[in-house]
Amino acid sequence: MEYESLMSNEQDQSVVQHLNKCHATQPVTLGPSLAVGASRVILMAGPCSVENYAQVRATAEAIARAGGRVLRGGAYKPRTSPHSFQGLGAPALEMLRAVADEFNLLVISEALGVEHIPLVAAHADIIQIGSRNMQHYPLLWAAGELDRPVLLKRGFMSTVDEWLQAADHISSRGNERIILCERGIRTFETATRNTLDTNAIALVKQVSPYPVLADPSHATGRADLVIPAARSAVAAGADGLLVEFHPDPSNALSDGPQSLPLATLPDFYRQIGKIANAVGRELI
Ligand code: PEP
Ligand code: MN
Repeated sequence: MEYESLMSNEQDQSVVQHLNKCHATQPVTLGPSLAVGASRVILMAGPCSVENYAQVRATAEAIARAGGRVLRGGAYKPRTSPHSFQGLGAPALEMLRAVADEFNLLVISEALGVEHIPLVAAHADIIQIGSRNMQHYPLLWAAGELDRPVLLKRGFMSTVDEWLQAADHISSRGNERIILCERGIRTFETATRNTLDTNAIALVKQVSPYPVLADPSHATGRADLVIPAARSAVAAGADGLLVEFHPDPSNALSDGPQSLPLATLPDFYRQIGKIANAVGRELI
């Protein structure tokens, strides 16, 4: 009984701490002349996994041509099955850095474990912490020691309050350059891979100081739903989008069914750019 009342006090406090607060978004600097959380909506585009040099170079070139600034790509992949492609590791980080430098882009890539932090931080401008790792506290602490922006994905079975407390683990170590990313949660619905929680996008914009991205690729799991979901996220106030693009989605080594063909990137800018304009922003 006493234990239960202690537990509910603890939970009540965190709710009071986070969900009843009101914050203006504090923009996070990503690199020279680029911040997220200000007037521009930032697209971070690229393959789920880095597969080879030609793939990431073609992606970087397409992003630069479309006026984009950030290349995404996984080097260390959190796969449900150990028999699935696990990522190329260090060589993938080197490829990302080389093509990003060639086209003057920033790189975001995931650190899957604490041991990956030094190498990912040496090659990427933004460190991604994946959904499955949202409550991996030693990883959050290691990211909290960095002088690099950290993108914290929401755990697919985590509440908004738990997500914001995970962000506190990063900031408690000194790193305040936190970007939240809503990537869909698990609900009773199985028709789509996950359910994009647009409520949460609007809510965390109000109750946290952190910029918020949406990932319509993992939220839907279906390429044909990515644009509608991206529209809804930008309309709800998302400061950016993390979207999977692949030169040849049907042959992708991971997440092909939810990847948009790279050739459609200019059209994505046109379509989502209209929604950004409608809410007084610009998609870059
Ligand atoms: C990814 O971005 O490719 C990824 C693995 O995302 P999540 O952690 O949201 O599943
Ligand atoms: Mn993926």
